Amino acid sequence: VLQLSHPVKRYSNVGYTIKVFPDDYYSCENITPSALTSLTLALKGFFNTYNTLHSFNYNLNNFTEAKEKQLCEFSDYHENYMQTIIHFHHFIELLLKDALRFYNENLANKLHGSTVKETELLKYLHEGKDIDAIKFTKRTVAYNTSVNRIFALPRSSFKDVIVKHRDAIKEINMLRNKLLHQGSYFLPYRKLDEFIVRMILPLVQDLLFKCEDLWDGKELVEYWRYDNDYTDIDPIEEIINISEEKIMDHKAIAFYKAVGLALYQKPVGNLLRRIYEEDLIRQIYDIQNKSKKTCFVCRYDTLFLYPDINYSSPHKINKGEHYFKSGKAICTTCGFRLYNDVSEPVDYGINEEEGRIWDYTHLIEVY
Ligand SMILES: [Zn+2]
Repeated sequence: VLQLSHPVKRYSNVGYTIKVFPDDYYSCENITPSALTSLTLALKGFFNTYNTLHSFNYNLNNFTEAKEKQLCEFSDYHENYMQTIIHFHHFIELLLKDALRFYNENLANKLHGSTVKETELLKYLHEGKDIDAIKFTKRTVAYNTSVNRIFALPRSSFKDVIVKHRDAIKEINMLRNKLLHQGSYFLPYRKLDEFIVRMILPLVQDLLFKCEDLWDGKELVEYWRYDNDYTDIDPIEEIINISEEKIMDHKAIAFYKAVGLALYQKPVGNLLRRIYEEDLIRQIYDIQNKSKKTCFVCRYDTLFLYPDINYSSPHKINKGEHYFKSGKAICTTCGFRLYNDVSEPVDYGINEEEGRIWDYTHLIEVY
């Protein structure tokens, strides 16, 4: 029943605060989980710039400065750029605060009242004095204040990283502020490559892997990085290697952006492969031709139906013939994905000529 008098303004206190994960797979000790989510988003945005370049019919062979400026005018590029800058910035900002909290639980917060000024606090930190008597609010400080407080702290692996990358720390904040406050300032494609590859990725790498007192970078990888179990290529690693070269190879960067993006897209076959035997997979791929439909999003005949196999409970399927209804439809052209927990497209008056897709039965033979 539709309730017309539902309460408004009740969303800011009904959410969950997620700070730890119950999963044994990884722990997020001392690090705010959404920092890692931002890192993933930033990387996806950056990897996507190469696709965006091509979606407007540009290419890296004759990408003149004039064309590069034109690309800056497209909202798809703005989307990638904003995602890249805002999320790398957010990742760094949250880690700065995590490091401050690690030193003192209140140190990421604003000073309370006017009894102690920021300069005095910094002096206290410099001199290693006890700050327990100083009153703080519950609200966290601005990015620059966090950086200054880190600089005032005694030496640590985290501070060493911040000192080493102080230019990158400063630059990303300027770009982010220009973007948020001015809303119209964009680095062109190749300058963005240069900035991210030369300055930001080496900083990110050090923040994750060189702050041993705070967190174990190897463990965190499970949380933010793509899964490259089925390839020997690690695009981030490759791009970071490029950062040390004198001349930026934008084509090589583009190559690894494309690989990185694909790895983040979690290919459907990988899930199957992990759970079932090679033979079965071959069968599933063999029958694809018969379960190929016209995609009603892009109109190409590349909407593949997949058997409704329960992936969450791994088991081996016995030899012989098996019948499965369709559990999902995936278009390899436009990337459209639909699952059988929603109604048939025909029930929405869509794609009537293809009939009911969830009723399609797959015959799978396991030898
Ligand atoms: Zn499609």
